[in-house]
Amino acid sequence: MELIGNPDLRRALSDRVRFYNELGIYDFYRRQGKARPTESQSAETASQISPQPELREEMSPRKSAVLVTAQEEGVFEILNPKPEHGAPDPISALRLIREDLGDCTRCKLHQQGRKQIVFGVGNPRAELMFVGEGPGADEDAQGEPFVGRAGQLLNNMIKAMGLRREDVYIANVVKCRPPGNRTPERDECDTCSPFLMRQIAVIKPKVIVALGAVAAKNLLAINAPMSELRGRFYDFMPAGARRGDPSWQGAKLAVTYHPAFLLRDPRQKGEAWKDLQMVMKYLGMKLPNQNL
Ligand code: SF4
Repeated sequence: MELIGNPDLRRALSDRVRFYNELGIYDFYRRQGKARPTESQSAETASQISPQPELREEMSPRKSAVLVTAQEEGVFEILNPKPEHGAPDPISALRLIREDLGDCTRCKLHQQGRKQIVFGVGNPRAELMFVGEGPGADEDAQGEPFVGRAGQLLNNMIKAMGLRREDVYIANVVKCRPPGNRTPERDECDTCSPFLMRQIAVIKPKVIVALGAVAAKNLLAINAPMSELRGRFYDFMPAGARRGDPSWQGAKLAVTYHPAFLLRDPRQKGEAWKDLQMVMKYLGMKLPNQNL
């Protein structure tokens, strides 16, 4: 590529990349236009799903963008290694991501009453990962995702699958509590989610379960009601993940109801159980004869 051979351009790009790194930005996108027309299966799916408004969903879909080309990505990879690259194991890699996050002030949630950052918890080599929307009051107080009443229900869901909480990894799209438990806003999700993407890229789960519409829409960058999002798998590769990694070609992503919603409407527990059974089947787990 021409850029690699041009020292001035390379230096200028390196300076710019360093500037963005200091802001916590490691993944780069290019507006669609001249961009290559490659789309993931999930994006294809997105085009088949008509946008519809949904309760508790005010966010617009993400701006249309595509990842840089593989060639460009190689240049960024050389100029812009993420701190966790080269870490000897996922535990160290997650620690490096947490250190990089620091006492984060990158979005406005840092000054809206958060007590602490809720990074994520669980097995750094988990085959199964759960992703929620954001911390609530209990999580904010304890610094761990899903520890309140909704967390108890999530624990029960995990147990019903024949797993323990420490077998899976649990995180949220945003790591600071939105005031009054409001839905995190688009700019907050966009600023925070690259750290989640990096966590996913390190953990390399086989399956990710998005808990609720906010998590699903952020991970998949599509806007559809839960009735359309649930009941199928999506191919998922986190933005900025290294391509060509022989040890991981991405995860399957399934969508189910957020446990907080299930507490409000327990009649939907049967539907959530169907979603989890779909996941268990994919993971080759024995299906227990019980309900949530
Ligand atoms: S929500 Fe994320 S990006 Fe915003 S301040 Fe907290 S850690 Fe930083």
